[in-house]
Amino acid sequence: MRQYQAGRAYAEQRDREDRLARVRERFYTKEGQIYMDGNSLGLCSQDAEAAVLRAVSDWKQYGIGIWTGAPTNYFLYHDVIGEKIARLIHARPEEVTVCGNTTLNVHQCIATFWKPTATKYRILIDNLNFPTDRYAVTSQVRTRGMDPEDVIKVVESGDGKTLSEEEIIAAMTEDVALVLLPSVLYRSAQLLDLARLTKAAHARGIVIGFDLCHSIGNVDHDLEKIDCDFALWCNYKYLSGGPGAVAGLYINRRHFGREPGLSGWWGNRKDTQFELRNRFEHAENAGGWQTGTGSVLSMAAIDGALEVYRDLDMADVREKSLDLTAYLMYLIETELSGYGFTIGNPREDAVRGGHVALEHPEAARINEALKAADVVPDFRYPNVIRLAPVPLYVRYQDVYDLVARLKTIMETKAYEQYENKAGTVA
Ligand SMILES: *Cc1c(COP(=O)(O)O)cnc(C)c1O
Repeated sequence: MRQYQAGRAYAEQRDREDRLARVRERFYTKEGQIYMDGNSLGLCSQDAEAAVLRAVSDWKQYGIGIWTGAPTNYFLYHDVIGEKIARLIHARPEEVTVCGNTTLNVHQCIATFWKPTATKYRILIDNLNFPTDRYAVTSQVRTRGMDPEDVIKVVESGDGKTLSEEEIIAAMTEDVALVLLPSVLYRSAQLLDLARLTKAAHARGIVIGFDLCHSIGNVDHDLEKIDCDFALWCNYKYLSGGPGAVAGLYINRRHFGREPGLSGWWGNRKDTQFELRNRFEHAENAGGWQTGTGSVLSMAAIDGALEVYRDLDMADVREKSLDLTAYLMYLIETELSGYGFTIGNPREDAVRGGHVALEHPEAARINEALKAADVVPDFRYPNVIRLAPVPLYVRYQDVYDLVARLKTIMETKAYEQYENKAGTVA
């Protein structure tokens, strides 16, 4: 059991003892503002900014020569960055690349790994994943002239917040060909046991992949051990790779010989790419799943963001994340009891991702009041305020101050001046 103490002095003490405390200096934070939305868009670091400016300067200086003449290897930039991300998830360097966006990478993986036969053709998903993944799966099924109603099998959550691994495994029936699940659920922060699910899928001859959007850069995944077939994620949440950053893709090396579902010249073998042959020969690494020319300016921001992680151990990042969210739950329970809040995320470390899902019937307008109090939270319809204390730049004192501001809002009923409805980008 994690133990905490009341009072701000305790939070300040924890910040003084925190080994990751200095990392915060590398980020653009605002005096007085408490940023709790790093699971939607991570903050800009000086490193990310510097890398983008360097790429612009290289473009100015080299023109077309940027691809091969600059000190940074922009021609293979996607794989250079993939290698840096691989370290964070314990994958082999050649198994990770950056390309497209999360949604496109779902398309790519379904197109590559879903090989329906007459008897084994169904795709297993859940009803709590971020909906774009389901949209992509559905349109892939339609593209092959099949009926999504028949093909897509959905594991439903029992409580509307979490998924049962037993039920997921029970749903891996003979007719299932592929499973796509999130690592951490975007609303409730439930973390699934990826190794267990992969083992169960493989025992039944099923291909399995995960969407790591809500865990990359925060949860200490070991993909070597998990051994799933593919994974994909966005780089703009905990990883802080910039708004709309190019996304990530992991292809287990045992699949390097497979033909990519969506091919393009940037995925061609690099030694023959510029011979511009009419026959596509895909590179036998994750880079073989590239389609078109890489987005250098966006990749530069990710490259810079990864510099922040260079000297960090993901186990330390994960430990601080768990400690911050546990401290936040402690404060919610000790300071905010009687105001009608409930905690909607799992409590145990092993099944909790990086945010706290604070529920309240008037969450939408409490969220507005928090914004007015210089907190950046995140509202999820209909009743969840997500609070993500990103361990790289959120301090224990920020968690303390957040709860203190929220307590004032509840005491003074400051939220009553807002309507209880959500804005457009929540
Ligand atoms: C954030 C998120 C996405 C976003 O998809 P984009 O294609 O990057 O816009 C997709 N899936 C999950 C699970 C997410 O959390």
